[in-house]
Amino acid sequence: MRELLLVRYGEIFLKGQNRPVFMRALVKRVKRAVQDLGATVYLNDSRIFVTDYSDQDEAIRKVTKVFGVHSVCPAIEMPKEDFDAVAAQAVAMMADLKGTFKVSARRSDKRYPLDSPAINGQIGHRVLVANKNLSVDVKNPDHVMNVEIRDHAYLYVKVIPAVGGMPVGTNGRATLLLSGGIDSPVAGWMIAKRGVHINAVHFHSYPYTSDRAKEKVLDLARILSESCCGIRVHVVPFTKIQMEIHEKCPDEYTTLIMRRFMMRIAERVAITEKSEALITGESIGQVASQTMTALGTTDMVVNMPVFRPVIGFDKTEIIAIAEKIGTMETSSLPYEDCCTVFTPRHPATHPHLDIIEAAEAKLDMEALIQEAMDGIEIVTC
Ligand code: ATP
Ligand code: MG
Repeated sequence: MRELLLVRYGEIFLKGQNRPVFMRALVKRVKRAVQDLGATVYLNDSRIFVTDYSDQDEAIRKVTKVFGVHSVCPAIEMPKEDFDAVAAQAVAMMADLKGTFKVSARRSDKRYPLDSPAINGQIGHRVLVANKNLSVDVKNPDHVMNVEIRDHAYLYVKVIPAVGGMPVGTNGRATLLLSGGIDSPVAGWMIAKRGVHINAVHFHSYPYTSDRAKEKVLDLARILSESCCGIRVHVVPFTKIQMEIHEKCPDEYTTLIMRRFMMRIAERVAITEKSEALITGESIGQVASQTMTALGTTDMVVNMPVFRPVIGFDKTEIIAIAEKIGTMETSSLPYEDCCTVFTPRHPATHPHLDIIEAAEAKLDMEALIQEAMDGIEIVTC
């Protein structure tokens, strides 16, 4: 008899030809998540099992964060031949529970002497006799004693919900514009949840923004990495571009012009990373550079699709996700961002394209972009 984790995934993705690709990707991602715990991960009878871990709680914490996992069940695996022993184990696992229950048996071994209704009946009866705090409710029980008869017997009661989504890498790649704020880590997480492997670009304006501000962004990438499976962060030196914009462009347009530079550079990075899209943490109307007109003028400078998964979210809703995924605390640290250092007093909310283009014509854009690209430092988180 031994303890293990039975990992459940969304059946919806498993139809048709995608199934083997999905399963291989998921097993690989679960293995990566628990590698530090010395755990073994394997596929058996279309189920993923995790065993031999040094710490079960930590294994559960890590596996429930893997995109593509819908729930994790701590289970007991034991020989199926001695039915009395299986029933006794079920009784022991329900000893501390109160309320209503049912037994749900599944039998993939059709030669087993008892069929599913017989297993349900026999184990249900023994649980009722042993635990006076439980009664049966087959329609809407508080607890379900799952008994699966496969190569062995597997028993579990607890079903711990996981993040869901699809395994990272099954839906291509995208590049996240990652600031140290609350919104962009959430945006990246939401797209990665759909199976997209993300990498990131961070614009750093040293010495106007400190090394600690950069470290904060890398810490955010490390937190995301638990679910996102390794994030390459491209740290782009942005000071020169910001100084040039500050000197040569109208004050109320500096933020927008800066954002257009960010998009152009992010797209170039995205191409080197074989990404198919850009991701930002913008939400309509949150700040002046996030009016619909302003977003339109930043989209214009790139050819790739730009995904903004929090576009319709209130700040409180974004914060709730940041708390759930564990980025909120780090995002709340007070270090400055390059956007805030050069913020104009009255940013244009209804920018005119002709003014933007006239201002940009005063800059040696290609040289500035190339110099920033050449100065990129890549950190793998
Ligand atoms: P966040 O909380 O993600 O910082 P925000 O509300 O502060 O967002 P802005 O500062 O206007 O909004 O930035 C909008 C988006 O632009 C961010 O969500 C992020 O995707 C991108 N961005 C802003 N600053 C940077 C930066 N220094 N490096 C990379 N991307 C950035
Ligand atoms: Mg920001």
